[in-house]
Amino acid sequence: PKTTDDILTEDVHLVQSFADLNALKQDGARTAIVGAEGTMVTDSEGNELIDGIGGLWCVNVGHKRREIIEAINQQLETLDFYSTFYSFTHPTAAALAAKLAELAPGSLNKVHFGNSGSVANDSAVRILHHYYKRLGQPQKRKVLSRHGAYHGSTHLAIAMTTPEYSDGWHKAEGIVHHLRKPHYWREGDGMTEAEFTDALLDDMKSEIESLGAENIACFIGEPIMGAGGVIVPPEGYHARVADLCRDYEIKVISDEVVTAFGRLGHFFASKDVFGFQPDIITTAKGLTSGYQPLSATILSDEIHEVISGPGAMFLHGMTYSGHPAASAAGLANIALMERDQIPQTARTTGKLFETTLKGLGDLDIVGEVRGSHFMIGIEFVKDKVSKEIFDPSLNIGLKVAQKCQEKGLIARPLGHILILSPTLILSPEQIATIGAILRESITEVMAEL
Ligand code: PLP
Repeated sequence: PKTTDDILTEDVHLVQSFADLNALKQDGARTAIVGAEGTMVTDSEGNELIDGIGGLWCVNVGHKRREIIEAINQQLETLDFYSTFYSFTHPTAAALAAKLAELAPGSLNKVHFGNSGSVANDSAVRILHHYYKRLGQPQKRKVLSRHGAYHGSTHLAIAMTTPEYSDGWHKAEGIVHHLRKPHYWREGDGMTEAEFTDALLDDMKSEIESLGAENIACFIGEPIMGAGGVIVPPEGYHARVADLCRDYEIKVISDEVVTAFGRLGHFFASKDVFGFQPDIITTAKGLTSGYQPLSATILSDEIHEVISGPGAMFLHGMTYSGHPAASAAGLANIALMERDQIPQTARTTGKLFETTLKGLGDLDIVGEVRGSHFMIGIEFVKDKVSKEIFDPSLNIGLKVAQKCQEKGLIARPLGHILILSPTLILSPEQIATIGAILRESITEVMAEL
């Protein structure tokens, strides 16, 4: 095997994602992961670490599951590649589309495949533009998104992402408009949660009225915002947003790239956890548990009927849409989840994970621990009463994450927030270990401030 030095020498040619590229030039700043099994990963120094971020919110069933690896290999032996374009299809993509239609709520029965969450979201909006054009409403193109959203890094997806990421691109062509972030703890000062929800809905209604509903194609939202800091909206928010959209004939896209496939205890969270029926669900990540890059844009029958009517060429797709090996991984992953009842188990163990981490709220620099089940964010503050954050140059999240890693846990720093999104197969003992490592790490960082 290659030594850490060998790996990192070659790694200078690799451009990391979402990183301070300059800081990564320092010795010891990068970690090479060389192996993984179950809930754990191994680094190039031989350290075994709990994968507290599930790869990147995606390795839901755990690493190195033979069933998925064998399904991929078997598929490659039978049909290595064909695309689902023009008149061609293949049985594995077709079977996965049928399985997703069975699992997705309501009449979400038609599936377009892509190879990333970003692409799934781009596809959703492009499909709606096509849909409205076919309905004789080509001007109905605007998108309502939200501050704090993360929808991906392709041009359209980053435009729908919170403006801090998109560097002004969200203003391009005036297509994307951002509504308020539904974060009660930070933004609901002086209001009850119900009043805050009313205020969010009032703002949304004003924005719709000012842009003109006849110009708005859709609202896009994550059931729980992920990279925006794990923001759980107030009670009843999603159902009311969906009702408002329906009143104004605006389609609802639920970005379930993170929240699907068991992370919140169900295959999909929109209907089962939050009680609303979207017109489109986009998903990726847990769809294959990360074993292959695959995403799905799941459409209602009604949308599909319009885009598949006579005389309409559907000029959209990717070479790898419905890649056989990725589709095989998706099918095997879902079969494994069903066989082992992984989403159902995650309702109990995920709740334990959530309550264990929420127990860290007594620590002086922990402002809010939020999220649900296996999707948790810990926000650090300088002052618990004023909720003032630490100077960003202090890199408080990174400091805690580094301590965690020294103690055997990978967590993801995001400015002054720490994110945990582990595999869904953690034992109660491992959950207790994660809680203890976090408590020790935060306490040590506090002592060094
Ligand atoms: N949507 C959400 C909610 C995400 O968290 C992400 C990625 O983290 C994406 C979309 C983009 O997915 P991808 O990185 O596969 O393009």
